Amino acid sequence: MTDSTEISPAARPLDFIRQIIAEDLHSGKHQQIVTRFPPEPNGFLHIGHAKSICLNFGIGMENNSPCHLRFDDTNPSKEESIYVESIKKDVQWLGFDWGRNLFYASDYFDRLYDSACQLIKLGCAYVCELSAEEIRTYRGTLTEPGKESPYRDRTIAENLDLFQRMKEGEFDEGSRVLRARIDMNSPNLNLRDPVLYRILKVTHHRTGDAWCIYPMYDYTHSLSDAIEGITHSLCTLEFEDHRPLYNWFLDTLKTEYHPRQIEFARLNLTYTVMSKRKILQLVQGGYVEGWDDPRMLTISGLRRRGYSASAIRKFCSDIGIGKKESWIDMSVLENTAREALNETAPRVMVVLNPLKVIIDNYPDGQIEEMEAQNHPQRPEMGSRRVPFSRELYIERDDFMEEPPKKFFRLGPEREVRLRYGYFIRCVSVVKDAATGEITAIHCTYDPETRGGSAPDGRKVKGTIHWVSAPHAISCPVRIYDRLFLTENPDADRNVDFKEHLNPNSLTILDNCMLEPSLGKAQAGEQFQFERQGYFCTDLIDSQSGTPVFNRTVTLKDSWIKTDKGSHKP
Ligand code: ATP
Ligand code: MG
Repeated sequence: MTDSTEISPAARPLDFIRQIIAEDLHSGKHQQIVTRFPPEPNGFLHIGHAKSICLNFGIGMENNSPCHLRFDDTNPSKEESIYVESIKKDVQWLGFDWGRNLFYASDYFDRLYDSACQLIKLGCAYVCELSAEEIRTYRGTLTEPGKESPYRDRTIAENLDLFQRMKEGEFDEGSRVLRARIDMNSPNLNLRDPVLYRILKVTHHRTGDAWCIYPMYDYTHSLSDAIEGITHSLCTLEFEDHRPLYNWFLDTLKTEYHPRQIEFARLNLTYTVMSKRKILQLVQGGYVEGWDDPRMLTISGLRRRGYSASAIRKFCSDIGIGKKESWIDMSVLENTAREALNETAPRVMVVLNPLKVIIDNYPDGQIEEMEAQNHPQRPEMGSRRVPFSRELYIERDDFMEEPPKKFFRLGPEREVRLRYGYFIRCVSVVKDAATGEITAIHCTYDPETRGGSAPDGRKVKGTIHWVSAPHAISCPVRIYDRLFLTENPDADRNVDFKEHLNPNSLTILDNCMLEPSLGKAQAGEQFQFERQGYFCTDLIDSQSGTPVFNRTVTLKDSWIKTDKGSHKP
């Protein structure tokens, strides 16, 4: 992966994790680094996962070492194959390659079961018959010690027998669990005899009905890391308190490999929710059109919105890796897209809200081809020809019947420049007799002004874009805006986060007028619609062959706080 927008790793100061890794290589503690990205296949990946992917796979690439993709698939009631497929697709699309290192925690079910038996034999695990509720109350709190389970001192033989019968399906869900036998007085709640296995009579997306007991996250995760010979197990800060338990499993079982868990601060982004549970509510409740809805901060949503993989990698690299919780403003992400697209997106003219212009003195039937640059700052991107004719469309907003003083665009008896065209002057307005709505305007043009300036030196204050009416391609454009209106929709526990949804996060303009060159646009192509923003082609209508456009981002940040706190999308 080479990309001019990314600073080479050598030019960047190393973050604290890369420093640890560099030292471990330097001291000879490790000859080879192995990292992993361990998603649970219970949803699509989001921008927070991208941070972890860029970190783990990035370290792999920088050190020419493997990074494993491991599905942490131990909760069959919530996991599905479609999520597995979407995760693989997204990691690849982001530009990363796990090579032969694709794993599933479910591949280790046999070994995990054997290790659990081993823990029982060491006197370090027992079958407990307390209910989930009782286990919770027995656990105690940060200020009160826990209480030991009455089943804690069962004999090894009894535990082995019961655990095996759990596995064989003899007991009901919820009736028994296997617990580690550690310390009910530990100041760390995670060490107060955590549950290792629970009974779940649910079909697993890979192992089918082979198992009816499933291992818990902490246990599975530490052992999977050890089985795969991971050297550095990188996770988010909320697992800091789980590290002693992670180490306890490895030390007690004396595993061959002892990976080092290192925690970093997760990505928190304003104006969105990042928990998969909440994202699922948006999808299932129909608040969005799916996991890949372009308003979603999922990788697939961002892709359909028009974010490139390199823009997402650049964002992850810019925000860096630290140990302190912090918030990144959504505008930082949007700006990354804007900056990347400013460099690469060809410029085109599209009228989103068309108003017909008739140029009275332009010869009927005449068509001129105007030369338009594809990127004014990058001449190497070339130019194209845009047809000009007697009837055009301009943006409804670019005309005002009674313009205020500061309005420099078109109004009665006013003159403006048409980009790559002529000066035009408005001479009359046509209105719908019933509604009073302006349906067209009549103008005259000055044939001497082709190319954008008048020989007599007179100036115009505004330049507007246009599309020739008989050549225009009509197409829908989706104007996306932020999905939430507040910075932290999760902030108030008493208010459902969905209360903060932006009712105007999607506006479909279904009669936009494209310049004819866009008829050839392919799905996924990106453009700057001059004066409007960056847009990308989404689906191409298979019958008409016309594209549909999604707005990726406006040209300027319209969410910058004003005195009134208002927002103009
Ligand atoms: P949930 O939303 O239910 O808390 P999760 O986001 O932790 O789930 P996982 O599939 O377990 O989902 O995440 C896979 C990996 O991505 C984990 O290592 C996790 O630490 C990392 N990750 C998840 N969210 C973020 C985030 N916001 N920033 C950085 N890394 C993240
Ligand atoms: Mg998780």
